Amino acid sequence: MIYLDNHATTPCDRRVLDRMLPWLTEKFGNPHSTSHEIGREAAQAIDSSLNVMGAILGVAADSILMTSGATESNNLAIDGVCRHPRQKRRNVITTTIEHPAVLDVVDRLEKDGFRVTRVPVHQQGHESAGQVDLAALRDALNEDTALVSVHWANNEIGVIQPLDQIAAMVHEAGALLHSDATQAVGRIPVSLAEVDVDLLSASAHKFYGPKGVGFLTIASGCHPRRVRLKPLIVGGGQQRNLRSGTMAPANVVGCAAAMELACAEIESTAREALSLRDRLWSGLNRSIDELRLNGSSLEPSGRLVGNLNVMLPGIEGEAWMSATPGVAFSSGSACSSVDAKPSHVLTGIGLSESEARRSVRFGVGKFNTRDEIELAIAALVEGFQRVAGSLQ
Ligand code: PLP
Repeated sequence: MIYLDNHATTPCDRRVLDRMLPWLTEKFGNPHSTSHEIGREAAQAIDSSLNVMGAILGVAADSILMTSGATESNNLAIDGVCRHPRQKRRNVITTTIEHPAVLDVVDRLEKDGFRVTRVPVHQQGHESAGQVDLAALRDALNEDTALVSVHWANNEIGVIQPLDQIAAMVHEAGALLHSDATQAVGRIPVSLAEVDVDLLSASAHKFYGPKGVGFLTIASGCHPRRVRLKPLIVGGGQQRNLRSGTMAPANVVGCAAAMELACAEIESTAREALSLRDRLWSGLNRSIDELRLNGSSLEPSGRLVGNLNVMLPGIEGEAWMSATPGVAFSSGSACSSVDAKPSHVLTGIGLSESEARRSVRFGVGKFNTRDEIELAIAALVEGFQRVAGSLQ
């Protein structure tokens, strides 16, 4: 199997697993039971992991909250800000192409009486298709806006959002900015010392770490815009009362180790992914007439370098996938592939439902090789020709 679905998840790097294993075996202490050495060493492992992550992300270690992943982080960021008892503002702004872990949270807020604005993005054909329409965002912001949630990079079309411009607008309106950076962390530089985001979510399994662990950074302490959050999970009061439950040292160590490795290798990984992704696109484009690129141009400044999203002439993405079982890729969003509806990201950039159904996503990652890409192109072209031929 050639794995080209690295936006859905990435394999855990063996070096990350090696760093985690002691915390699952002999070093089994509860990090909140610090009256003895075995608990204290687990607590210290968590502290030093948070320090590593804080240094990379440009935030204080104590502003990082460990969670089960970006879904939980997004829920906590959005619900937590909006439902805090001292929150007076009732408007939330997001975009039409966020992950369901954002869109479903704002849908629920809307049902509970909040006013939700879903800002459009630039349409297919625009050089920056998928980027937030900044004029529409400016128009939507108002004195009642509590929070704006805009992802850093998209999981289907790889578009990178202009977060620094968005942050300036949002803060001028006195609102908070949350960014779902799940597809960005470890792939492109993400530093909150440079981009002024108040809440940031991510998951370790998107940057070669373990599944089931992620984090939310929360502007706190002496930050000019202190964030107040209503916790989702209450209980023992761990993590400053914001997320009760015993922390998992192996997961935290794994998340930090994965982030450290991904960021140390970010340039070489990106160079190779860009070259492989471009080869995949040219190989497919040469053999499949009228294959179309979905989203923005392939320029690395506006799009994740491993991302390719294409629309087929005449056949559905699902049929292409079934005809090419040796290659793992996805139609629509793998994160919500239980849902048979056409991708809201693709319809959000203006594709029709039928065009969205004819589209697929590839995500090239750091373990892919040149040989794999050549084999994948051959298999994909053969699979396409077989399905297209059977329809004639
Ligand atoms: N946000 C984005 C942009 C994603 O791509 C994903 C993918 O799964 C998520 C959130 C949810 O992450 P998780 O399933 O790890 O909670």
